[in-house]
Amino acid sequence: MAYQSTIDLHAHSTASDGELAPDALVKRAAQNGIETLALTDHDTVAGLVKAYAAAMQYNIKLINGIELSARWNNKTIHIVGLNIEADNKTMIDATVQLNQLREERAVKIGEKLEKVGINNAFKETKRLAGTGTVTRQHFAQFLVNNGHAKSHADVFKRFLVNNKPGYVSVDWPELDETICNIHSAGGVAVIAHPLRYKMTATKLRKLISEFKVLGGEAIEVVTGNNNKNEISTVSNYAKKYNVAASIGSDFHNCKSPWAQLGNLTALPPDLTPVWELW
Ligand code: AMP
Ligand code: MN
Ligand code: MN
Ligand code: MN
Repeated sequence: MAYQSTIDLHAHSTASDGELAPDALVKRAAQNGIETLALTDHDTVAGLVKAYAAAMQYNIKLINGIELSARWNNKTIHIVGLNIEADNKTMIDATVQLNQLREERAVKIGEKLEKVGINNAFKETKRLAGTGTVTRQHFAQFLVNNGHAKSHADVFKRFLVNNKPGYVSVDWPELDETICNIHSAGGVAVIAHPLRYKMTATKLRKLISEFKVLGGEAIEVVTGNNNKNEISTVSNYAKKYNVAASIGSDFHNCKSPWAQLGNLTALPPDLTPVWELW
């Protein structure tokens, strides 16, 4: 049953592909009754300082987070790092490398779109990303704004994905390195939105068991858009592989009703909540 959770451990700001600046995000979280919020921007910790200041103002407990792009079995997966030290050198070095990969990919995406007659995509997308991390979400925004697609969902069907114009694969750091970086920064590693990778159940179980062997601590059991069956499936994985459970909306903007801050089903009571690990 949907209710308003007071804990939300997955959210994006303008430091990556979110719509709200870090302070506005924290304000909105407070308005939604959230008491504990993790800011988890893609491959950057740049929003945390501003978010922290706002969290003091609105009396919210801010958990320093990040959502790291990683590679496992040649597939891109997302690993959320929670309760990290934001000024940790290993983590900051990792984000510099990740953003370089993102910039290189963005240039190539622009070149590929150019080949199908879509001009200025790189330049305009960079403008949309501003000082934040450049993501495919910004390319999607550019493509929608310019009438090449009718929605973001449409973009991710017709562009930017395997075998479609504008697709560029990236050799993100391997899963083991990603987990090590989170641990170096004193954080806890969490597999983000496990059911969104279009993996077979067998593959996903393999991912979780290898993640656990590598020292990974938790898995997102409740995310913004999952139903009762999905929560039950992931709960069973958490129990089977003895990993803790996280909860987070993956908030990006105020338009997606399924991913609003704190608009989440409660974590099943028989799991270890990830916050018990810090
Ligand atoms: P990137 O990390 O740059 O590859 O971009 C991934 C981001 O694109 C995700 O975090 C989402 O914000 C967005 N995204 C990916 N797939 C979809 C989709 N099918 N519909 C809408 N947004 C998506
Ligand atoms: Mn995103
Ligand atoms: Mn993600
Ligand atoms: Mn996310």
